[in-house]
Amino acid sequence: MSTYRRITDIQADIRSGKTSCVQLVKEYIARIEAQKHLNAFLEVWADEALEQAERVDQKFKTGNAGRLAGAVIGIKDNLAYKGHKVSAASKILEGFESLYTATAVQRLLDEDAIILGRTNCDEFAMGASNENSAFGPVRNAADPERVPGGSSGGSAVAVQANLVHATLGSDTGGSIRQPAAFCGLFGIKPTYGLISRWGLLAYASSFDQIGPLTHSLEDNMLLTEIMAGSDEHDATVSDRSAPRYQLDTADKKYTFAVMRQAVEHPGLDADVKQETESLIASLQAQGHQITYFDFEYLDYLVPTYYLLTTAEASSNLSRYSGLLYGHRSPNATDLESTFTLSRTEGFGEEVKRRIMLGTFVLSSDYYDAYYSKAQKVRRLIQNKTREVLSSADAILIPTTSTPAFQLGEKSKNPIAMYLADLFTVQANIAGNCAISIPTATTAAGLPIGMQLMCGEFEEQKLYQISAEVLRVCQ
Ligand code: GLN
Repeated sequence: MSTYRRITDIQADIRSGKTSCVQLVKEYIARIEAQKHLNAFLEVWADEALEQAERVDQKFKTGNAGRLAGAVIGIKDNLAYKGHKVSAASKILEGFESLYTATAVQRLLDEDAIILGRTNCDEFAMGASNENSAFGPVRNAADPERVPGGSSGGSAVAVQANLVHATLGSDTGGSIRQPAAFCGLFGIKPTYGLISRWGLLAYASSFDQIGPLTHSLEDNMLLTEIMAGSDEHDATVSDRSAPRYQLDTADKKYTFAVMRQAVEHPGLDADVKQETESLIASLQAQGHQITYFDFEYLDYLVPTYYLLTTAEASSNLSRYSGLLYGHRSPNATDLESTFTLSRTEGFGEEVKRRIMLGTFVLSSDYYDAYYSKAQKVRRLIQNKTREVLSSADAILIPTTSTPAFQLGEKSKNPIAMYLADLFTVQANIAGNCAISIPTATTAAGLPIGMQLMCGEFEEQKLYQISAEVLRVCQ
């Protein structure tokens, strides 16, 4: 089967008659079937995708195909798509169907994308390995004994194994970038407020952002551009006009700020360290400037993230009570046992842990000591991030401290799992944009991702600098 890196290449082949949307969808369906052991998809909407493919093929013939015509896409199972099931990979939502479509998904459909199915993920997007799904873990296609990263693990593997052309994920603390790094893809966490969260099942509302996972930088730009822009359903989306991203070929030199504590971190894997150092040397050799900065808050990143996100999660997830929708315990006898049993039976262990932690940090006795304090530290981290970016074009650090780890390696130790988020949570705490780009592969064939961060609403610059880093790596 043909594999494509760019949507524009697919469109060229459709226009010249080499392939068609129907043929592509059939190929993807066969591929998903053949790669079932990866567990990337929770549901495939085959008939519907084939009908949509026929419609889009017609549009190619009549010359009015949209910008995403020919792109077959998977969506993370926490995005609403009207009339389709959505479960956040949780038993508590088993059988639930969306009543409306997420703005981000609708904007893809409006440009003639074909949505093929919903992808597996950690339950309610809580995890870094995709082992917290109620429907089993996802396996990394580079090594099926290893995790794909999380929480958008199914979205990453679906692209990595060419089960669809691109996918949507969500990133609250690294859930797009970390799986992108583990699976050799491009994954962006856009600036908070660039893309509407309407129709994204909330985990931590002041952190969550939707973004694409793709084989190429060009597709990543295109999908982000199409999804971005104001939305009457989400007041947190910036109302600045929708962006237009373009790579310009002018030879420009950039200043990269490298976090000293990250590159000298004792937990940094030898291959990741070597790749970071060689990238820095190559950038310098090409005339770019490297400056090092001290980030005194490194040890506070993960605690700040987990205090604030669990607090928000405990509030957001209170709607899953067994009353309004989703799982209701058949053993309940009154109101209280409906709440208790439905939640006990419906939620997995990690989700329960976070709801309890979040409820604790919001309780009146501990609110000031934990929640308010974490908010203050959030501001310090944001100020420091802005300060560094005021004298550099981008921050450069590895996306993760190691390549993909073994299935089961961290699942019994929540703290070890939380530390997997060390390099990714900063951008969610501060709100700025960050991308993971695949720059190398270890001798064992495991992908390594490098992370670039720019300021708020600087996606154009982030993409431009990413293109330069890729050029330098080649
Ligand atoms: N791994 C992080 C967590 O477990 C990030 C999750 C995410 O970005 N959704 O919360």
